[in-house]
Amino acid sequence: MEGIPQRPKHTAELLQEILQRTQALPNEGAVANYIPALAKVDPNHLGIAVAELDGKVHIAGDAQIPFSIQSISKIFGLTLAMERVGDQLWNRVRMEPSGHAFNSIVQLEWEHGIPRNPFINAGAIVVADTLVSHYSSSRAALTQFIRNLAQNPIIFVDEVVWESEREHGARNAALAYLMKSFNNIEANVVDVLDHYFYQCAISMSCVDLARSLGFLANRGVQPGTGEVICDPRSTRRINAMMSTSGMYDQSGEFAFTVGLPAKGGVGGGLVAVVPDYGVICAWSPKLNSYGNSYRGMFMIRQVAEELGLSVYS
Ligand code: GLN
Repeated sequence: MEGIPQRPKHTAELLQEILQRTQALPNEGAVANYIPALAKVDPNHLGIAVAELDGKVHIAGDAQIPFSIQSISKIFGLTLAMERVGDQLWNRVRMEPSGHAFNSIVQLEWEHGIPRNPFINAGAIVVADTLVSHYSSSRAALTQFIRNLAQNPIIFVDEVVWESEREHGARNAALAYLMKSFNNIEANVVDVLDHYFYQCAISMSCVDLARSLGFLANRGVQPGTGEVICDPRSTRRINAMMSTSGMYDQSGEFAFTVGLPAKGGVGGGLVAVVPDYGVICAWSPKLNSYGNSYRGMFMIRQVAEELGLSVYS
C-alpha cells in the first residue's frame, strides 16, 4: 500500500527538489531536428511551473523563458474552434486515439480523410481550416485569444521557427492536400498550413502556459478574470481528449503512470491539467521517440505522485 499522499511542505520547495532530482539524471533523448530552427535550442533548459486556481504560481528553473509551444497550440486552436463552430466540428474530426505517430499519413487514407482526433497533426489542420474559414484573420484571433488567456500582451510568434516550419513542412502539406482530396479542407490549403505553422511557432513560457490553461481545470471559467472561455461540457471533452490522445501514442502510458489530461509539443513543453486544482507546465527540449519531452514527463510524474493528483485515484 502506498498510503495517502501527504500535501508537502510547500509546492515551491517541492518543485525545487524535483528540479534537482531531474538534473541529477542523464539528459536523454534528442531535440526535434526535422524543424531545423528547433534544433538550435539549448538542450539543457529545464523549467516547471504550477499555476493554482487561486492565482498562486510556483516555479523552478527556466519557468519564465519562452519556448516554441508547438503542438500545445492545438489546445488553443481547438477551444476556439469548438466555441466558434460547435458540434459540426465532429463531422470532420473524430475523438479516438490514433495508435500512430502524430504526423502519420497511413490511417488518413484508409479513413477517408477524417482524422482520428484534433491533437494529431491532421486533426489540428482540420481545426486550423475551420478557424481560417470563420475568422477574417484567424492568426490575429488566435494570438489575441492566447494573450488574453495568459494575461500577457507580449506573447509573440517566433518568425524564424514559423519560416522553418513552412520550409520543412512537406509532411503536413501532404496531410492537408490528402484531406482536401476528400473534401475535408474548405479553405485554401496554403492559408490553412500557414495558420497551422504560425500557431505551432508561438513562444510562451511555462508560467504563460500554466496560467493560460486554468479554465480547463475550472469548468471553463478562467481563474483570475472570471471570463467564461468555454462551457463545462466542452471543458470535459477537451480534457477527455487530452487524456486519450494528448501524448500521442504514449497517452496510455501517461494515463497509467501519471493520470492527468496532458498535451506535449516537440518544443519540449508539456502541460497537465489537474481539475479543481490548477495546471502544471514543464519544459525540457529533449524528446523521446514519441515526440514527448523526456524530462518534462519525469517532472510532471513526480509532481503528480507527490501531490496525489491523478484523476483516477
Ligand atoms: N509543428 C509540429 C509539426 O507539425 C508540431 C508537432 C508536435 O509538436 N508534436 O510537426
